[in-house]
Amino acid sequence: MKFHDLTIQEMRQKLRAGDLTSVDLTKACLERIKATDGELNAFITLCEDEALAAAAEADQQIKAGNTGMLTGIPIAVKDIFNTLDVRTTCGSKILDNYISPYDATAVIKLREQGAVIVGKLNMDEFAMGSSNENSAAGAVHNPWDTERVPGGSSGGSAAAVAAGQVVATLGTDTGGSVRQPASHCGVVGLKPTYGRVSRYGVVAFASSLDQVGPLAGNVEDCALMLGVVAGYDPADSTSVDCPVPDYLENLNGGVAGKKIGLPQEYFIDGLDPEIKQAVDAAIETYRQLGAEIVEVSLPHTDYSVACYYLIAMAEASSNLARYDGVRFGLRRDSGEGLTGMYQQTRSAGFGDEVKRRIMLGTYALSSGYYDAYYLKAQKVRTLIRKDFLKAFEQVDLLLTPVAPTPAFKIGEMVDDPLQMYLSDIFTIPTNLAGTCAMSFPCGFSTDGLPIGLQLIGKPFAENEMLQAAYAFEQATDWNKRVPEL
Ligand code: GLN
Repeated sequence: MKFHDLTIQEMRQKLRAGDLTSVDLTKACLERIKATDGELNAFITLCEDEALAAAAEADQQIKAGNTGMLTGIPIAVKDIFNTLDVRTTCGSKILDNYISPYDATAVIKLREQGAVIVGKLNMDEFAMGSSNENSAAGAVHNPWDTERVPGGSSGGSAAAVAAGQVVATLGTDTGGSVRQPASHCGVVGLKPTYGRVSRYGVVAFASSLDQVGPLAGNVEDCALMLGVVAGYDPADSTSVDCPVPDYLENLNGGVAGKKIGLPQEYFIDGLDPEIKQAVDAAIETYRQLGAEIVEVSLPHTDYSVACYYLIAMAEASSNLARYDGVRFGLRRDSGEGLTGMYQQTRSAGFGDEVKRRIMLGTYALSSGYYDAYYLKAQKVRTLIRKDFLKAFEQVDLLLTPVAPTPAFKIGEMVDDPLQMYLSDIFTIPTNLAGTCAMSFPCGFSTDGLPIGLQLIGKPFAENEMLQAAYAFEQATDWNKRVPEL
């Protein structure tokens, strides 16, 4: 039986009606992964036995009438989420043999709602990258064109949904790592407001920017997944104690009378003409749906990429100090003392991009440079945040492209880190501002590559943003196309 074209909501119905068992669904899902992952490499670890046991348990629960939002539904998570008894590599050699003694809060929440976790998804090492080429487990291939990247760093999370390996996944977004791969793979991906979802048990990259976010094949499933993982967690002091609305119940709100702002700084010359065309058409669709479109300005946009890379690298250099060969994962020691052991372990365990960032971040934090770089970047960050808050005094939502180009070829940018960093130009500012944003399909290039549209919402207004995305999805059929595999 073929299940990979069902949505979460369709799976739920069939499971509850007894037309389908979770064991059958999970088996079909595992088969689909095995049939396609030779080509895609989206998974780092498959949890076959654990998944089948969880599925059997879910079938019992369904029979007994105890159903949660995801009971019996196969889901996979980025390999950055700690999972009890299943290894968490974070795409790095240094954590190759690391097994966490606990589940991340987001994983606990998935399990509490009955989800069947089938595996851990490939990613750029420590979530550093925009192409998923920086993974110790090898590159992920884009299901729409396997010679191209799926985007990053949650490349496995996006490719797996696009290829119908699983119906939904979790990723993380520090500077665009949910939205950019969602855009490149033609799926829906959402970065919640900083503080909306607990980061507890998620391997830290840049703690003031990291957020957990869902990816799915349509807006409704993405809303459902957000509802499952969102909420205050006493184990994460940065999670915010504010009510989580019922994202599903409110999905039909539409955009009539809503003001949508187009930040002029995002419609730049370097924008790929096909992306511009798709985004312009989307703007027209929103006009027809009754939204009022206005131009706004986010004047400090130009400084975002530099500001982000300073802050993210500084925080990363501090967060990654813990991988010292003593407490986690890999240790290399040829008997040259403690410092020698640190050096050998970290030299062997980290990939080039991670090393580059640790060095740059350490430099930016060193005495004498702290004020010139890190502190200055923090001040610029405040200006960027104020730009957004000011724009949101005029409009309800902002609309922008997600990435300046569609998915590029594997290998095309590996030798040019600066160019790679620039591919995050439209996603980074919202992480700096802390507000919510999402990507969903709005077209295809002439080469048949998906193009995503970004909506940016007010802090904690995921609800309103999802309504607007849903209205667009109902009015168009971009998310109905699937890649041939
Ligand atoms: N591509 C960006 C980076 O390399 C963002 C990564 C992310 O969001 N985790 O830092």
